[in-house]
Amino acid sequence: MKPVKKGGSPRAYAAYKSAKADLIAALGAQCSYCEAAKDPQDLHVEHIYPKDPHPERALLWENFLLSCSSCNSYKSQHLGNRRRRGLETRYVWPHLDNTFRVFKYSSDGRVELRARLREHITKAANFTIDMFGFMLSPQKAKSYSKKGIAFDGVSKRKEQWAQVTQFRVMYLGNPTMSNAVTISNAAAKMGYFSIWMEVFKDRAEVRKELIRAFKADPDCFDGGTCPVKRGRI
Ligand SMILES: [Zn+2]
Repeated sequence: MKPVKKGGSPRAYAAYKSAKADLIAALGAQCSYCEAAKDPQDLHVEHIYPKDPHPERALLWENFLLSCSSCNSYKSQHLGNRRRRGLETRYVWPHLDNTFRVFKYSSDGRVELRARLREHITKAANFTIDMFGFMLSPQKAKSYSKKGIAFDGVSKRKEQWAQVTQFRVMYLGNPTMSNAVTISNAAAKMGYFSIWMEVFKDRAEVRKELIRAFKADPDCFDGGTCPVKRGRI
């Protein structure tokens, strides 16, 4: 999950949908949760605290992220329509925590937890995986997709990993700065920041460009692109 930097509210919003362009400018045109790249019309202004039981937060920038329709739907199903408190600490969030230090992406499409996380972070990270259906089996995802809301994230990430591997081969054949920039700009349009970062993990010069092109929070990485602590993680 790509860590992002939202900054303060650019302006006040009379309708939450009018925050979409500002959110895309700040976060990049990808789902804040599953990292899929989307056309603007397929991204939703996502309410961290659902606007139904929390109308007082419906127009607040602090309560916005971007999500695809699948993550949006999974999250609604997971949370239900009860009023809740403490979502910030019960789950991990890309604008609060350095989520890059939490989740580990693999070539088989799985999302797992990195080693040596503290117990309460492990718990919050596992709740987060459940909330967005990141690890649903393809069969289970299919049963959801009959309702028109879901996708098979594991298979998508596996396909994406294979594609990114091709880009790595291409880059290693011509490892110039301009190629790193070109590849990173293309990558941001394809989505899945964490997969790109993992496949290029020994190429800091490419990772720097990926962080820029994807609009990841640069403060979450040191000069060598190793993730550093933010928030609780
Ligand atoms: Zn998503």
